[in-house]
Amino acid sequence: MQLDNLYQEVILDHYKNPQNKKLSANYDAQVHHVNPSCGDEIDLNITVKDGVVEAITWDGVGCSISQASVSILTDLLIGKTITDAYKIYDEFVALMQSKGTVEGNEDLLEDAVALAGVSKYPARIKCALLGWMAFKDASVQAQAK
Ligand code: ZN
Repeated sequence: MQLDNLYQEVILDHYKNPQNKKLSANYDAQVHHVNPSCGDEIDLNITVKDGVVEAITWDGVGCSISQASVSILTDLLIGKTITDAYKIYDEFVALMQSKGTVEGNEDLLEDAVALAGVSKYPARIKCALLGWMAFKDASVQAQAK
């Protein structure tokens, strides 16, 4: 898999120094998501207060794409309103489904644009999306409480 060097560095940095990778004792919802095609696994806790993503913590094992993607997600979405977080989520999912035809809105996606190149590799898209699917699932459950 060939990714832009700078982007590869962003991904490796998040893989080696994952953000918020320590499951919190308290949370509104907890989910466990797996990507059987690669063997990636993620547990994710979320706390939502007054329509704002107050905390996301996680633990996981798997390839660098899956682990870096969820680390990037926590950096990006903690502190955002649910409305803004879902805008970013939709933009990221659209980027992953673009088959490499879209560069991604860097204003919205920040470090997550580093994963744009993954959209050219169908086998890896589920790796990149795993944490995002977990976030969406957990946030829906948290709001239903
Ligand atoms: Zn993977």
